[in-house]
Amino acid sequence: MSAPTGAGTGPTALAMIEFAADGGATLGHRFVPVDEPQLNVMDLSATRGDGIFETISLGGGHAQALDPHLRRFAHSAALLELPPPDLDAWREAVLAVAAQLGPVDEGFVKIVLTRGIEGQDVPTGWAYGATSPDHSAARTVGIRIVLLDRGYRHDVAQTSPWLLAGAKTLSYAVNRAAFREAARRGADDALFVSSDGYLLEGAVSNLVLRSGDELMTPRTDLGILEGTTQHDIFTWASTQGFRTSYELLTPQDLAAADAAWLVSSVRHAAAVRAVDGLERAVDREVSDRMNDYLRARTT
Ligand code: PLP
Repeated sequence: MSAPTGAGTGPTALAMIEFAADGGATLGHRFVPVDEPQLNVMDLSATRGDGIFETISLGGGHAQALDPHLRRFAHSAALLELPPPDLDAWREAVLAVAAQLGPVDEGFVKIVLTRGIEGQDVPTGWAYGATSPDHSAARTVGIRIVLLDRGYRHDVAQTSPWLLAGAKTLSYAVNRAAFREAARRGADDALFVSSDGYLLEGAVSNLVLRSGDELMTPRTDLGILEGTTQHDIFTWASTQGFRTSYELLTPQDLAAADAAWLVSSVRHAAAVRAVDGLERAVDREVSDRMNDYLRARTT
């Protein structure tokens, strides 16, 4: 069986989360073979994309930013009105899957919670771990991005909460379509822009800009995910003499910035080397320092 997209070629591990028959308590987890089917075809994740997920990086076998990922998992569950995840049980499952993989240099654990099989009111959940693909080219040479209109105003999270902007749902068909559109335009990745002209987030990442000694990222109330990687970069940056801020940013700010990155778990800081076909400078020195820091995190 070939490795799934997004995974490297090393070890894999899978644990199913066990829930009480009434859908209430989380009982623990149980390791199962990765290459055997586990999901019922009536599971609402498969039929409606109705569920949430997180992908946690592993560096040298250590789960990175695990607590912020679990907090965001709980936040997504609340937005979808899923049963609140038992974060201690999920943390244990992540750590057990990570331990099963061993001290891999770079890997990830993806956790998924779904609304379960239609009509049964018992969630489905699992934690899947694998080694990461090699992202060194994105971190060093950089990536070409295109700006794509997301079609929502920057205040969509406030005006239309039912659109679930800012929840990490399993409905990622739109995010994958953005990658295909980027590829059609000769690029590697997409950066979403609100219909009223503000920079939002990448298809699976957050934007960080550098102007002089200031790092900026779009405000987190714009219907985007609060990035765990962006947050860790800001914590690190403030120890390195950078000022950091959350802003309403426009494409003009991106064009004027000294450097730009799309940052996310697993790929870490991908340097932006072209926007809509226009080449721009890559800050190799800061990129390397950011990625060295991100790779070395032990928590
Ligand atoms: N925004 C979106 C839409 C994402 O899917 C992701 C990560 O998958 C991010 C931002 C970055 O989040 P993190 O740094 O926590 O991985």
